[in-house]
Amino acid sequence: MQVKFILPALSESDSPFWRPIKYSLFPPLGLATLAAYLDPDDDVKLVDQHVEELTLDDCPDLVAIEVYITNAFRSYQIADYYRSKGSYVILGGIHVTSLPDEAILHADSIFIGPAEESFPRFLKDFKNKQTQKKYSSVIRTIQDLPPVRRDLIKRNRYLVPNSIVVSRGCPHSCSFCYKESFFEGGKSFYVQKVDSALAEIERLKGRHLYFLDDHLLGNPKFAESLFDGMMGMDRVFQGAATVESILKGNLIEKAAKAGLRSLFVGFETFSPENLKQSNKSQNMDKDYRKAIQRLHDLGIMINGSFVFGLDNDNTDVFKRTVDWGIENAITTATYHILTPYPGTALYKTMESEGRILNRNWDLYDTRHVVYKTNLLSASELEAGYKWSYNEFYKWSNIFKASLKHDSLKHSVKHLFYTGGWKKFEPIWNFIIKTKGLNHMLPLLETILAKVVKKPANKEKLEITKKQQSLIPNFESY
Ligand code: SF4
Repeated sequence: MQVKFILPALSESDSPFWRPIKYSLFPPLGLATLAAYLDPDDDVKLVDQHVEELTLDDCPDLVAIEVYITNAFRSYQIADYYRSKGSYVILGGIHVTSLPDEAILHADSIFIGPAEESFPRFLKDFKNKQTQKKYSSVIRTIQDLPPVRRDLIKRNRYLVPNSIVVSRGCPHSCSFCYKESFFEGGKSFYVQKVDSALAEIERLKGRHLYFLDDHLLGNPKFAESLFDGMMGMDRVFQGAATVESILKGNLIEKAAKAGLRSLFVGFETFSPENLKQSNKSQNMDKDYRKAIQRLHDLGIMINGSFVFGLDNDNTDVFKRTVDWGIENAITTATYHILTPYPGTALYKTMESEGRILNRNWDLYDTRHVVYKTNLLSASELEAGYKWSYNEFYKWSNIFKASLKHDSLKHSVKHLFYTGGWKKFEPIWNFIIKTKGLNHMLPLLETILAKVVKKPANKEKLEITKKQQSLIPNFESY
């Protein structure tokens, strides 16, 4: 049987002439996971349109497409095309789960929720020519997954080919997050067997790993055993966790000892009213600065996530948020315009209040305003969002933030990581075009090497007049 797995390019990333590095970071692990359920003699292709051309001159027996909100329209076009040629087309993913009635018009079968159990069920039906229109996830477990088909992944096209997922979902329920709708009707947070996760790690070449789990510390018992098992593996890794989990117990120390070097943290907002609107109780009354200090003391870099446009935000939110990130030496900041994704609690609330202004899914990319705002106008919000990115990633502010660290080595790492991430897009574009991303991995591993902190009497680095004079004026770069 010929099978083609496709991840269509997101609407914001589809220029063949300009490929920002963030679209060449991770391979489509979900599709490679499902491919593991096929027979060894099936002819399988996996095409990620973010990093390669999608050719349409074939007619596979089965075409499986992963649908996100901003690739939905493109996914439907591809699906319609292959169906017209006679292929059997299945659609799955977050957007299909949120809007099954929309997706079903473009597919022979659709998948609701995670597909680890429903996809093998479908394959059996497909072979017996008894397929159903809709496959919903019934049993939720990832305890006995077959090894991910990493042989289908073109490693040299990605900066981070060693991405890995050891859990599904998250123990929290933020109102703007897809998590609740994707896992509706069953368990919404579950983990792999520790031994299987460690075996998967052992299979990955090189030192660097990126855990794509929504919350790597979400199940402390599992995380502790995982980190214990990783001691001595000589790995460096990145992941995501909440403010609460950083402050609680000593799990974060264990993670650092096992090789955690950079963490994505959803700070989102400083306003208690906004946290309440977001149902983000795990951030409520938590000392963000203390969490940051703890990460800095452990030599862990921080990618802070912030949302603009919650109902209590007004025009001063942008400067306050950017200044705070610089002052607290956040390594990279990810800003988002609040986006009410279909299926989320936020969407339902806004829809009931008549606040959804736009259902063009291509614009649901967290850069556009698609709902009726409260204290800010839509144009203020979009302008403030753009200003925040430009301001945070000015060379002078990158230098300023990096010099806030206690150790010179940490400052240098900060500078290289942030500068490398945001200031050299033309070089990244060239490397992507020449398919050389994989060669950059040793550099990333070096930047993520451990910072050994001096125990006492360390002088806090201040920006002296002399250092300030060394800051180049690259704003117009
Ligand atoms: S903590 Fe993150 S992953 Fe979990 S529900 Fe909130 S936004 Fe989603």
